[in-house]
Amino acid sequence: MKYYNNIIETIGNTPLVKLNKVNKGIPGTILVKAEYFNPGNSVKDRIAIRMIEDAEKDGRLKPGGTIIEGTSGNTGFGLALAAIGKGYKCIFTMADKQSKEKIDILRAVGAEVIVCPTNVAPEDPRSYYSVAKRLNQEIPNSLYPNQYDNLSNTAAHYDTTGPEIWRDTDGKITHFAASVGTGGTISGTSKYLKEQNPDIVTVGLDTYGSVFKKYKETGIFDSNEIYPYLTEGIGEDILPQNVDFEVIDHFIKVTDKDAAIMARRLSREEGLFIGWSCGTAVHGALEYAREHLKEDDVMVIILPDHGTRYLAKIYNDTWMKDHGFLEDRAFKTARDIVH
Ligand code: PMP
Repeated sequence: MKYYNNIIETIGNTPLVKLNKVNKGIPGTILVKAEYFNPGNSVKDRIAIRMIEDAEKDGRLKPGGTIIEGTSGNTGFGLALAAIGKGYKCIFTMADKQSKEKIDILRAVGAEVIVCPTNVAPEDPRSYYSVAKRLNQEIPNSLYPNQYDNLSNTAAHYDTTGPEIWRDTDGKITHFAASVGTGGTISGTSKYLKEQNPDIVTVGLDTYGSVFKKYKETGIFDSNEIYPYLTEGIGEDILPQNVDFEVIDHFIKVTDKDAAIMARRLSREEGLFIGWSCGTAVHGALEYAREHLKEDDVMVIILPDHGTRYLAKIYNDTWMKDHGFLEDRAFKTARDIVH
């Protein structure tokens, strides 16, 4: 019989898939790593189980404990799945810009979710960072994994994502690209890949309204770079310890609109039904590839999550139009023609 002992064992070993349409005219082989094949439909399953198991090993998490995390949804889902098998409770704090689907999914797998305002400073007591920290102080036998500064996050990618990419490309990868939130994905994967071949170039995809690109280029944490944006799960108004700027060679910023349009193209033209930040990753990575890739190069781009969580946003034509992301021409449907 061939089976897994529990759902946790199915995490990782996600497929690499070649892009065929959206990269038309761009040299090189461009592969995406489809992280939505994980059981929680995102890259974050990898870090969730690692943060829990590291905390169990060093005694920070004991049987019957409660896991409390500030999460845009994907880490929460991974933590909730892992917690079910291991008998822990979960409480998550989320910013109110996150999609309703993400909140509903977390509640569906038994977690308690507290929704906090998005546009307050991280140190404000109402922010989702502050609320998570306060709950951790007040609830006995609770663990606050803190995916931003917990280096088990980077370690999970160093030990799994990096080796999988190296193995599946037979060591032929020349460029690696990922969108950056906590930084764990890009830092752990890039560190592993660069140890195998220091010539590999790593491109981080950032969003307008986030501090990473400016910080990498100038060393200055510029608060003028911080303003509201819509793309979920990426960009920060803090510098998480999991962002290792040493192993990221370049940053490119992508707008909410370009990311949304590319996500929709990936779904329709490649059959990759993926999330908004996947659009950020591919739009930005292709911008880099158009300028710098050669025919023999192999680029791998991480696709962090699945499209279902964004049905009411980027996959909804009315929402897209209301945000000025769809031109009238593109909005014309068969129904408009028939009537
Ligand atoms: N995209 C989405 C949808 C995410 O939830 C995250 C995690 N915050 C990322 C991208 C970025 O991954 P990382 O935190 O490893 O930088």
